[in-house]
Amino acid sequence: MARSAVVEAQRDHFVIAHSMITLALSKGRIFDESITLLASVGVHVLDDPETSRKLILGTNQPDLRVLLVRATDVPTYVEYGGAEIGVTGKDVLIEHGGAGLYQPLDLRIARCHMAVAAPEGFDYVHAARRGGRLTIATKYPTIARGFFAGKGVHVDLIKLYGSMELAPLTGLADAIVDLVSTGKTLQANHLIEVEHVMDISSRLVVNQAALKLKTEPIRRLIEAFKKAIAVPAARAAAKVK
Ligand code: ATP
Ligand code: MG
Repeated sequence: MARSAVVEAQRDHFVIAHSMITLALSKGRIFDESITLLASVGVHVLDDPETSRKLILGTNQPDLRVLLVRATDVPTYVEYGGAEIGVTGKDVLIEHGGAGLYQPLDLRIARCHMAVAAPEGFDYVHAARRGGRLTIATKYPTIARGFFAGKGVHVDLIKLYGSMELAPLTGLADAIVDLVSTGKTLQANHLIEVEHVMDISSRLVVNQAALKLKTEPIRRLIEAFKKAIAVPAARAAAKVK
């Protein structure tokens, strides 16, 4: 290759690398509902994460790729610039703290709510009176701490990473703070929802520095999502999942 061609190729590569936008998504419902939204405005992911082992997926837009990460890692990737933009649950975002993240849009997907649940026989009302004391098992210590501080209840928090329903059944905790959508898991484990903590849905998060450096492509992507959540068919499709 002639030297000028090499320089040109390098320059092209530089340009591509710097206009490329990486969107961080987590597998499962957030991935499914996000790509349903994007498909409604003509953005298609080229690989299926269920059958492919790839963690970086191309799209039909040459300057957009999708990064598959753990749900709790999405804000971290976006905060440090591993991805310019991401979709993450409000639950995960509150626990992360939101440092360095611009939050332009509530996508209204992956909707559920955060709740306190206790065993059927437990006198929650008495235990959770102002000045009372509770042991709470949760994956969401920041949300749980804030909620009970607001009620004036002392809590001993036990951080778990999954299957929180087991904690009250095994005597580990009096109650749990967890996400609920249908309530079937609680019911199957003889737990009752005793408080609604907050509604949860997924948000778009953007790296604040990237927004300054790659304003145009990021703005275009935010606009695409905005347009998509206004499409009733996309909303309906996202909701049935
Ligand atoms: P992992 O399964 O990798 O341990 P996770 O359980 O945090 O991670 P998901 O179950 O895919 O990941 O949940 C991702 C996000 O989807 C949550 O942070 C929350 O915002 C939302 N979500 C979780 N459970 C529900 C639910 N039952 N209904 C609707 N949305 C939910
Ligand atoms: Mg899960």
